[in-house]
Formats: sequence, structure tokens, C-alpha cells
Amino acid sequence: MDTSTGKADHKVLDRLFTRIDGLRDEVVGLTKALVRIPTVNPPGEFYADCARLIGERLRSKGFAVEYPRATDERADSDKYPRINVVARVEGQGVGPCVHFNSHIDVVEAGRGWSVDPWAGELKEGRIYGRGTCDMKGGLATSMIAVEAILMDGIEFPGAFEISATADEESGGWAGVGWLAKRGYFAKSRVDHVIIPEPLNQDCVCLGHRGVWWAEVESLGRVAHGSMPSLGVNAIRGMGAFLHKVEQKLYPQLNKRQTAMPVIPEGARHSTLNFNSIHGGQIEPDNDYDRAPSPVVADSCRLILDRRYLIEEDLQAVKDEIVGLLEEVRRELPEFQYRIRDLLEFAPNMTDAHDPVVRALDGAVQEVFGKPARHVVSPGTYDQKHVQRIGHLSSCVAYGPGILELAHQPDEYVVIDDMIRSAKVMAAASLALKRLISF
Ligand SMILES: [Zn+2]
Repeated sequence: MDTSTGKADHKVLDRLFTRIDGLRDEVVGLTKALVRIPTVNPPGEFYADCARLIGERLRSKGFAVEYPRATDERADSDKYPRINVVARVEGQGVGPCVHFNSHIDVVEAGRGWSVDPWAGELKEGRIYGRGTCDMKGGLATSMIAVEAILMDGIEFPGAFEISATADEESGGWAGVGWLAKRGYFAKSRVDHVIIPEPLNQDCVCLGHRGVWWAEVESLGRVAHGSMPSLGVNAIRGMGAFLHKVEQKLYPQLNKRQTAMPVIPEGARHSTLNFNSIHGGQIEPDNDYDRAPSPVVADSCRLILDRRYLIEEDLQAVKDEIVGLLEEVRRELPEFQYRIRDLLEFAPNMTDAHDPVVRALDGAVQEVFGKPARHVVSPGTYDQKHVQRIGHLSSCVAYGPGILELAHQPDEYVVIDDMIRSAKVMAAASLALKRLISF
């Protein structure tokens, strides 16, 4: 880098960073306002209110705003409309469009909170509430980053876009998936996408592992519970399958390490979780007077969640499970099963030399004084739709939240982290527009 550019860069950045420091109350106020709208998914509540809050704010800053609704998606209804917001501001002349995408939906609050999950309470430099970390804090941060550039009067080529979208927590089909199908991430419109998911403020997240959800059902034959030999118990069949998984599959999965830099460390290999299991009759909650009658269970259903690696093949991943079920069938001739695919997304990982990665690397170095850590998310997020449907490869996640806090009680985001991340986002944007170099 030539020194004269370096000096100019620092002048621009110093002024911009001072501006962002001055927007601290704005980022706090915006995050709190967003958290107070309980956009819980499912069922997808208050999307319209949340989209309008974001859209009206951005319109007042000079963005052109639209509210595309995924009316043709199954999840959309008049009661729970799948409303997205896409805001765009044009710069001067031809240049790349940098797009920040956040999801507006949050998971239910659940139990174990010591604060009101919907109040956006401020405590010791943190904002608490459902969605602060995942990812309304990140959304607010990206809005402030772009607003700061506009307020500073920095002339930039190309455009900025900010989208806030529905349903990421349930697959993103009515959000980024829907927008991607309709050309919102086409090359004619967008060049680089940054998704402020909570992957830690000094990390650049290149992608995510793949996922396959399936329901496995073991089938049996009903008989009186006092004469189980006259029936076939589906729960015992499932037990035999689970035993094989424990004995044979888990040791293999644990050994199957990936070159993907997945965080946390414990997810840097193939994993398998059982989301739920149910066998026999439904038992009413804690009501033992109405406990199931003595009947041999003829069905046991298990929902499994297999996270797979870029080194693995999805068909092989499925065959591995079927292989164990077939083993059980050979050993227990009356064992029968069904298996049903529920959801699958391929793993993806953006090239570490992609311009968006290098811009964020430079910006993290600038703000934190140390190199960015490249990571991969254990779970999927909307990057899959941008890349697989939108065919836009220059996409990563970068945001201020702490990964481990997502979906937890007492979720929070650290205000200083948001300020630092806003600086990273703003500096990376200027680098992508070739206004500065690191
Ligand atoms: Zn998220």
C-alpha cells in the first residue's frame, strides 16, 4: 500500500469511526425498539410492525424502501404475513452494491429468564432480550454502519442495500429464499452480501455445515401389554437402532474431523442429535391417572438432526443411517421401519480470498489490531439461499453477537461490540467500494 493512500485512508476512517462512536445511543435505541417487537417464529408474529420500523427509519435516511411479501409461500397467511423489507440507497456512479441481510424473526423466549425477554433491558453495557444477539443487535449495527457513511457525506460508487427478512429460524423460504428466487441477489443488483449473524465480533464466518433432518419410525404390532410376545414392540425396535447408533455411528462421527474451521470446537466434526422421540400412545401431561393402557406399542418415531461436512456426501450420510436400520432388520426379523426426509441443506464455505472476506479481514485488523479469525457456523443460516438460489458467492456472516448466547435465556448483546462491529462493517464497505485500502 502506498503511504499517501494510507494517510488518506486514516483520515476518512478516523472521522467515520468518531461518527460511529457518536451513534452509540442510536444503536442502543434501535436495538431496544426492535427487541420490543416480539417477532416470534413460529408462528411468525409482528413481522409487519418490525419491517415497518426498519423501513421507515431507512426511508427517512434516504433509502428507497419496498416490502415484498411472500404471499405464495406456505407459511404466509393474512394472520401471519411473511413481510420482508428491502431498502436501497444509490451512490454516485457505477460500482459494487454491498448488501447487509438480517433476519427479523426470533425463536420463542422459553424458560429460565431473569429479565423480561421483550423489554430490551440495559444492564452493565449490555442489552438483554430475545433476539438481541440473534440477530437484531447485528441488524441495528449494520444499519448504523451504513447510516454513518451517509451522514459523513462520503461519496461512494454503486449502492448499499439493507434487507430484513422473515423466517430464517424456520428455513428462510419466505425470506431470503423467496427474495433469491425473485432475483434480489442477482449480479445485476448485488455484488457482496454480509449477514450480521452472531458469529463473534472478530471472526469472519465463511459458511456453515450441511444439515439433514429425518423422521425414523419403527413399526410394530399391537397386542395386550400382559402378553407382549403376541405383538411386536416398536419401542424395542427403536431401542435396538439407537444401540447401534451409540455403538457404531457415534464413534465414527466423532472421528470425522473437518477442514472447515467450525466453531465451537465441539462441532468441528460430523454430529447427530435426536430432536425428539415418541413411542406408543400419547400420555397426557403429568396425568398418571390417564396413563397409556397396557398395549404393545406399534409405532415409535424419532426425529434426527444430522449435521454434515463439506467432505461428506449427503447420500452417504443417509445410507449410513439406513444401513444401521437394515442391520437391525436382519437381526430382528419382525422389525420394520420407515424413514422420511424433513429438511436438507448442503454445506457451503466461501473462498477465503473472496473480496468480501478480504475486506472484512482488513477491517477487523484495523479495528481490533489483530487478524480476523475465519470460522464456519455449526448451524445453517440464510447464506445457503444467497449462494445456492441467488448464485452469489461473495457472501459471508459477520456480526457482533456471541455465538453461544443465541437461543439461550438471558440472551444479550454487548454495546461496545456493536460499536466495534459497526466500524468493521463500515470500513469493509469502503474497502469493497475501493475508497480505502488496508
Ligand atoms: Zn440467526
